[in-house]
Amino acid sequence: MTSDAALASLLREVRACRHCEAHLPLGPRPVLHISTTARLLIASQAPGTKVHHAGISFWDASGDRLRTWLGIEKPLFYDETQIAILPMGLCYPGRLPNGGDAPPRPECAPLWRGRILAAMPALRLTLLVGTYAQAEAARLENWPKASMTDRVRAYKNYMPRYFPLPHPSWRTGIWERKNPWFAAEILPALRHAVRAALAP
Ligand code: SF4
Repeated sequence: MTSDAALASLLREVRACRHCEAHLPLGPRPVLHISTTARLLIASQAPGTKVHHAGISFWDASGDRLRTWLGIEKPLFYDETQIAILPMGLCYPGRLPNGGDAPPRPECAPLWRGRILAAMPALRLTLLVGTYAQAEAARLENWPKASMTDRVRAYKNYMPRYFPLPHPSWRTGIWERKNPWFAAEILPALRHAVRAALAP
């Protein structure tokens, strides 16, 4: 089986997954964008309701914010031959009693993530978007504990393989205003790293 055929077969398996169905308020609908040629990976959190209904990652205001950070437009952002998007939890996990987003389902990454990443051999750079993606990388790479803010500020320590970022939710607008170094220092470096990863 070619690597493309193997990935297509894996994708069919993922899309048929009902493993944690009992915990999913809107039912299973894995949302991911992958290919054997993608050079940049956006490791994200979990779909929200808009993304669940559209079946397209970052199909909401957080996507607009993330694309602004990266300095790229929708056609490139959704070109899965170049950019893969793989959340830590592939289906919408619901809300917490306090109204916040529920965390990604914990069953999902151990079940699928390793197999999916192994099927994307061309990846050069992984954007760790939010605390869940950073925690998983920290576990794999044995990084010492650090806050999201400290990891973002010390992004050079994680390059060239990883680039930690906040989750681009509306709350992060407040965080950005409190941390002006993010726009001044980190975003130019992020755009440079993204261009380098996507270069032929
Ligand atoms: S969240 Fe993951 S493990 Fe649960 S049903 Fe969706 S794909 Fe399967």
